[in-house]
Amino acid sequence: MGVWLEGSTLAKEIKERVRDEVSKIKAERNEVPGLAAILVGKNKASQVYVGMKQKNCERLGLYSEVLTFKENLDPSELKKKIEELNHKDQIDGILVQEPLPQGFSSHEVAKTILPEKDVDGLNPCSLGHLLRVESGLRPCTPLGIMELLKSRKISIKGKEVVIIGRSLLVGKPLSIMMTNAHGTVTVCHSRTENLPKVASRADILVAAIGRGAFVTPDFVKEGAVVIDVGINHLTDKAEAAEMFKEPEKRLQDIDKKGYTLIGDVHPSVIDKASFLTPVPGGVGLLTVAMLMHNTLKAYKLRRG
Ligand code: NAP
Repeated sequence: MGVWLEGSTLAKEIKERVRDEVSKIKAERNEVPGLAAILVGKNKASQVYVGMKQKNCERLGLYSEVLTFKENLDPSELKKKIEELNHKDQIDGILVQEPLPQGFSSHEVAKTILPEKDVDGLNPCSLGHLLRVESGLRPCTPLGIMELLKSRKISIKGKEVVIIGRSLLVGKPLSIMMTNAHGTVTVCHSRTENLPKVASRADILVAAIGRGAFVTPDFVKEGAVVIDVGINHLTDKAEAAEMFKEPEKRLQDIDKKGYTLIGDVHPSVIDKASFLTPVPGGVGLLTVAMLMHNTLKAYKLRRG
């Protein structure tokens, strides 16, 4: 049986490092790094994520602003707001919470954020820096995965890496980071033929799909490191009882909230993998930690 690769210890370490540096900056320069989060519409999950990011900022001593707008906001108004934040000295990082309502273009939004304040790392300039292996702000989730592997001394050099999912948010930037770290990378998607066969080549397998428990043991080579990025809601108690060896907590979750969070990887993969990140408690914790790290980095890049 493999080991659960928790994200909590590393996330705590990263956040402590940020908190210490922020308090030093405050003492020496009487200023603090600032993050602005923009939320458009009423998506419940987005509200939770933005709230969590704001709470983290407060705990680490960062300045934070949350701007909320109704979903009938005109895209040109959003552009104007971002441009105002681009010019606001107190703000070092700007993030626009996805998904945006219909009528908004994520690409336009990412392009409007100044690369120096692009803490999500999705501006074409930031992505260009990643491709060219130049310094810059990197997308938080892939960056968190790279840090997690590094913290466990899991080497990527020369390894077969298979990433399922090719989104701009996770799969594509991670494939570049893994390539830059000398992995031999295969990116899979919904049109990949014979996915279990391709996936089972991997020494390091990453699932970023958005389909609960999709990756079963037949996708996994014995002893592989498996990183589960997915966040899905499971609402069926019978399915939860069957999926988990110790389902009590999951069943309580469903009773209380109507769902329990599961990843893209079936928990039984732990019996075949050497490491598997849990959901919740794995990659998600690192995504938030890396956002705090990126806000501090953006401050340092811009304000010296
Ligand atoms: P996305 O934009 O919807 O991309 C999903 C990818 O999975 C696409 O490339 C899609 O292929 C591929 N895919 C879908 N069904 C497939 C199938 N049957 N076989 C093979 N590939 C398939 O999603 P995302 O933003 O990357 O997010 C993926 C998951 O990670 C979601 O559950 C999301 O909530 C979660 N997430 C978690 C964090 C975190 O911090 N833990 C951060 C971001 C996202 P095509 O390109 O061919 O359509």
